[in-house]
Amino acid sequence: MKILVINCGSSSLKYQLIDMNTESQLANGLVERIGIDGSRIKHEKVGMDKVVIESPMKDHKIALNFVLDALKDEKHGVIKDINEIEAVGHRVVHAGEKYSESVLINDEVLKALKDCIELAPLHNPANIMGIEAMQELLPNAPMVAVFDTAFHQTMPEKEFIYAIDYKYYKNYSVRRYGMHGTSHRYVSSRAAEILGKDLKDIKMITCHLGNGSSIAALNNGKVVATSMGFTPLEGLAMGTRCGDIDPAVITYLMKKENLDAEQMDKVMNKESGVLGISGVSSDFRDIEEAAKDGNHRAELALDIFNERVRKYIGSYSAILGGVDVIVFTAGVGENSISNREEIMKNFEYLGVDFDSNLNNVRGKEAIITKPNSKVTVVVVPTNEELMIARDTKALSK
Ligand code: ADP
Repeated sequence: MKILVINCGSSSLKYQLIDMNTESQLANGLVERIGIDGSRIKHEKVGMDKVVIESPMKDHKIALNFVLDALKDEKHGVIKDINEIEAVGHRVVHAGEKYSESVLINDEVLKALKDCIELAPLHNPANIMGIEAMQELLPNAPMVAVFDTAFHQTMPEKEFIYAIDYKYYKNYSVRRYGMHGTSHRYVSSRAAEILGKDLKDIKMITCHLGNGSSIAALNNGKVVATSMGFTPLEGLAMGTRCGDIDPAVITYLMKKENLDAEQMDKVMNKESGVLGISGVSSDFRDIEEAAKDGNHRAELALDIFNERVRKYIGSYSAILGGVDVIVFTAGVGENSISNREEIMKNFEYLGVDFDSNLNNVRGKEAIITKPNSKVTVVVVPTNEELMIARDTKALSK
């Protein structure tokens, strides 16, 4: 069974075609600059060099048509006929409180996604465009929506209600939703598999540390707390997002710098985080380089990032009443040996016996604590696409 996984942004889209008999990727790619000058598709048949095709693509439907053409191209394609694609899985950012699991898409689901646009104005419209375009291009294929927010829906009320007037929750659905749910779900189940344990018996903290970062606390395999909130802005210090901040800073700066709501939003989402602190870059590799050269603000950015992760691990172990397994994933979590080591410092009290030699890995599964460590720390490369494909397979049977 071949499943196409699609992740649509407003001007870009990523895709993977996965053979579910072997759970292996056949091809993947990225379409950039949809609807603007310089549209192009970068397509890769697994095992071959990437090809780049430049052509005007004024909307998502045209872009997805290019994707289907690339997938069945004689030279770098992997299928003969588009009907070999038996189902399509769509990454969808926000399902509000409506869905706590993936769903087969029908008119009612599409309407529910449209109702959530206000909660994810940058993401849901693009996700919906992708779904509607694929429905036109592959009318017979079942389509499944896999939500970023769904896995966090098990959080208790005390974790998702903010300490503001309850009427804002009632009137405008203002509450914590959490993001990266598909990643937290994949790495938590994979970590349990690697350790040969049942998720039901483990207290786990999963750290998705990438350009956007979030942490989740899981009891019995279910999320009980997570660091992203109403939007992906809350929680850790990120590439360009500020994460937790005294809310009074926002109104103070708006007055001082004469910023309107949109400008302030940009400051917090695009100009803050490790980029804002370091003034160097949002990419941790650049910041590490600068820190090595003695750049104080780069060192500070890394210190603040690591300290915030430590704080969340500490507070989540308090919520869970201890922790058995800590998982690192995403760009920084999978690859940054020094960040992992810095973060794990000071956790001896929790029972972490860290092993610097075992930690000397990038981008692959590894246990990085000593065999007798009370808490096991694991690196698990995330695979959201595979998780989406698995859900799609299960729901489209
Ligand atoms: P997202 O999906 O949120 O865009 P990723 O999970 O792909 O982000 O993470 C991207 C980040 O991972 C980059 O900004 C970079 O800082 C970091 N990263 C990638 N490789 C390394 C590495 N070898 N060392 C440190 N950081 C890395």
